[in-house]
Formats: sequence, structure tokens, C-alpha cells
Amino acid sequence: MKEYHGASQAPSIEEELILSVTDMRRLAFSDAVKNNEIWPAFQPIVVMNDHALIGFEILARWNSPVYGNITPDTFIPWAEEDGLLDALTYHLITSACKMAQCWPGDFYLAFNISPLQFNNCNLVSMIFSAVSESGFPLARVRIEMTESAAISESPAVRALLERLGHAGVSITLDDFGTGYASLTRLRDFPFKTLKIDRGFVRNIANESSNQKIVSAIIGLGTSLGLEIIAEGVEDIEQATILQSLGCVVAQGWHYGREMAQSDASSFASDRTSAVL
Ligand code: C2E
Ligand code: CA
Ligand code: CA
Repeated sequence: MKEYHGASQAPSIEEELILSVTDMRRLAFSDAVKNNEIWPAFQPIVVMNDHALIGFEILARWNSPVYGNITPDTFIPWAEEDGLLDALTYHLITSACKMAQCWPGDFYLAFNISPLQFNNCNLVSMIFSAVSESGFPLARVRIEMTESAAISESPAVRALLERLGHAGVSITLDDFGTGYASLTRLRDFPFKTLKIDRGFVRNIANESSNQKIVSAIIGLGTSLGLEIIAEGVEDIEQATILQSLGCVVAQGWHYGREMAQSDASSFASDRTSAVL
């Protein structure tokens, strides 16, 4: 009898059904990765005062014909556990870069790389080869890593980031403030950008403690010469407060949702600017 919920007991019929639906979704996901059905959505990153486009974050999307839209918070862990994440990342990088390489402007594309992927010594060559296959300039590619990947003291991770940096690929520290990256790591790792986690932005109008944290992050980041991005900015009130705290660049529904390639291409044509 298998271990279930920490105890040696058989799952109920309802639990069995939920398990098998999950297994089926997971199998369908695995097929979707193999058939390149996961697609890159583009969410704009803009200068707050004039909404000029400076980059797009690439967010993985799966519209399953059977199970509907499944979010990356659900399927990225499956991809990790099933050994599919590198193949998925390669596909997302090549397809997003191919789509964007003829759009006007010098915006960058920022790709999410999971903490586990930083243990793969082939990560750098995988990124280089995915980008070069597309014709998009490597110097306009960014990698987003979360604090949990950055807390590793591994010299290999540091060397990997340096190789990326030397090739012109900048590194963004994502979800900043939610993990435990030490100040030493901030100073010593070659980050170019800090993304203030959405959790601090969400209640910024009502919680003065969030304003203080955001203000401290902006002060710290700026004094270390880092660019700051506020993420999850949903309305004008949040935007105004963030600007009053010294934030210049943001991402969120107030500026634009994630979009498919045709809308992103129009967005790039409308909002291209030489700023930054
Ligand atoms: P993340 O990297 O922090 O991405 C930002 C998330 O915030 C996205 O959720 C985005 O849709 C959402 N978001 C953006 N603006 C707003 C806003 O104004 N309000 C609210 N409420 N949400 C906003 P999404 O697309 O569901 O992605 C969730 C997470 O999944 C991402 O968090 C990232 O950690 C992961 N993820 C997405 N795509 C990939 C990928 O290609 N590879 C890897 N490794 N992880 C990915
Ligand atoms: Ca991200
Ligand atoms: Ca984030």
C-alpha cells in the first residue's frame, strides 16, 4: 500500500479520481511540450513616465484543447520533475526570438530560468544556441533568476552568470524581497536589474510598511548601480506611489498584459523609444 498524505492508507475514490485527472493533464502537457504547443506570451516592461517600451518578459502559456488554460505555476514544476524544462526553455527562447527579431525598436527579451537549471553546466551553451538560431541579438536577451537560485554559494553558478554577462546577456534578480539573497550576493553577483516582487506592490497604497520596504529596495539597488523594475503594477495609484519613491521602470496590467505575437508586434511599433 502506498504512502498517502504522510500515512499508510489507501486514497479515497475522490482522491483517486483527482490523482488520475492530474496524471492525465500531466501526460497531455508532456505531449504539448514535445509538439511545441507551449507558446511565448510577451508582457511589456516600460518606462513609467511615458510608457515607452524597453523590454518584454516572456511568459510560457499552454492552452490545452482538453483541459483549458493551465498556468505556468502548475506546469513549470511538472516540466522540472519530468526533465522537460530545458527542452521547453529552448523552444520558448528560439520561438520568441524568431517572432521578435523583425519588430521595430531595441527592446530586450527577458526569459525566466528556474533555479534547478542553474545546476546544468550546459545552460549557457543552450541559451547561446537557442538565440543564435533565431537571429535576435544576444545583447538584447536577459535572464531572470529568482532569489532562491541566487542564494547558492556555488562557484559554478557564479561562473555561469559571468559567462552570460561577458556575452552581453544581462541578469535580472526576480521576485526580489521574497527570498534570502544576502547583500553580499547582490554585490558580488553580476546582476544588472532587481525586480521588486508583486507582493510588495499589491498593497502599496494601503500598507505603509510595503512603501518602506519598496523605498529601501530602490535605495539599495540604486546605490549598487542596479536598474529597478516594479512588477505587478495594476493601477495609476500604485504607479504614482512607486514613481514618488524613485521607481522609473515597471511591468504590470496597468501598462499591458501578456500578449501573443501579433499584439506584441503592434505594441512594439507603437511604443518604441530611444529611452534607456
Ligand atoms: P514571474 O516570473 O514572477 O512572472 C510574473 C507573473 O505575474 C506572471 O504570472 C504574470 O502574468 C503576472 N503578472 C504580471 N503583471 C501582473 C499584474 O499587474 N497583476 C497580477 N496579479 N499579475 C501580474 P504567470 O504568467 O502566471 O507566471 C507565473 C510564474 O511562472 C512566473 O512568475 C515564473 O516564475 C513562472 N514562469 C512563467 N513562464 C516561465 C518560463 O518560461 N520558464 C520558467 N522557468 N518559469 C516561468
Ligand atoms: Ca520573471
Ligand atoms: Ca517576478
